[in-house]
Amino acid sequence: MRIDIMTLFPEMCAAVYGESILGRAVDKGILTVESVNIRDFAGNKHNSVDDAPYGGGAGMLMQAEPIWACFEDLCARLGTRPHLIYMSPRGRVLTQQRAKELAQLDNIAILCGHYEGVDQRVIDEIVDEELSIGDYVLTGGELPALVLTDCIARMLDGTLSSAEGRENESHYNGLLEYPQYTRPPVWRGREVPEVLLSGHHLNIEKWRREQSLAITAERRPDLLDGRTAEKE
Ligand code: SAM
Repeated sequence: MRIDIMTLFPEMCAAVYGESILGRAVDKGILTVESVNIRDFAGNKHNSVDDAPYGGGAGMLMQAEPIWACFEDLCARLGTRPHLIYMSPRGRVLTQQRAKELAQLDNIAILCGHYEGVDQRVIDEIVDEELSIGDYVLTGGELPALVLTDCIARMLDGTLSSAEGRENESHYNGLLEYPQYTRPPVWRGREVPEVLLSGHHLNIEKWRREQSLAITAERRPDLLDGRTAEKE
């Protein structure tokens, strides 16, 4: 799979996708991530890509043409048209389920906004989907784009080792994860639940499932399907 990040700050993105599990997916050839500088498509001698909004108001907006030219160039270089996602606080909030679906695609491009955002006409012209990473506003789309890239990378077969299995993680199966413990068995008077030391795998599974359900019911009842909660 390949992800191209369209941004005014390519170095900021490259610093993250070279590291940790994301970096490992790139090294293994499971994922290619590139960032492309929208400013290279400014088309003027000052390399300016923003202007004041019509109708007045605070701040500047990214202009349509450099973004469009950047995407056209990307499509030509790839020989295909990637699914283009604009990271935006107005988008649908990113979920694990959407990341799983996006991980099925071969090519994704992500547009990072800056300033007050992006001229609506280029969104209407080329963007396939708008995604938000939560109900708050950040300065630019780079951190959201990296959040999305990381989330998708974890869904690709081979990114995580079997020891890092994702199936029990929060949100993968619609529940929050159960509490986890490591050595020592007693820390500052706090003991590891006895069942986890018992070696009885069925009881451990049952305990973990109960804990997952209880934590989800307490913290995120919206995640629980009514029928599942009642039955269990
Ligand atoms: N004026 C815009 C609004 O009120 O919706 C916010 C612009 S924000 C300061 C600049 C850029 O950061 C956006 O174009 C978007 O790319 C990115 N951004 C900010 N918050 C985000 C979020 N919660 N999710 C995804 N992208 C976000």
